[in-house]
Amino acid sequence: MKVDISDILTISGAGMEIDWTGAPPEREPADGFVIDSDISFSGTLTNNNGILHLDGWLEAVYKSACYRCLGEIGGALRLRIKENFSGSTDAEQNDMYPFEGKKLDISRALNDNIILNLPMKHLCSEQCRGLCSKCGANLNEVQCGCSDDAIDPRMEGLYKFFERS
Ligand SMILES: [Zn+2]
Ligand SMILES: [Zn+2]
Repeated sequence: MKVDISDILTISGAGMEIDWTGAPPEREPADGFVIDSDISFSGTLTNNNGILHLDGWLEAVYKSACYRCLGEIGGALRLRIKENFSGSTDAEQNDMYPFEGKKLDISRALNDNIILNLPMKHLCSEQCRGLCSKCGANLNEVQCGCSDDAIDPRMEGLYKFFERS
């Protein structure tokens, strides 16, 4: 997503509106997350003594899978974006995104914000009972005949690990 900044680049205090809808910078921003519909950003870009300040809202809808039952789940992000862009060479040391020329690419800034705000733990519901470790049945839908002590002892550590995370 590139913004033509020629109108504000040389004038401190100048600003412009951005209202954009389009393809996400990355279709799979993180492992297990897919964004297959357009995302949108609306806000302003202001020249503050040569630093370009982006301020607005990003909206995206993602799909993912529940880690217990593997059922499809999705969610929506509505994120306040506040990022600075600098044309100087020490931009990144100062926690700003670098830019060159008269086109400002805000894709990386948007993508970083998406990645940071995806949920750490994705479950279809807190009560999800997951899949039976013996027969693979979805325990939210059926009561399989396997006994309660069906958890393979070799798998137990892994279950505990997931419960903790
Ligand atoms: Zn689930
Ligand atoms: Zn079973």
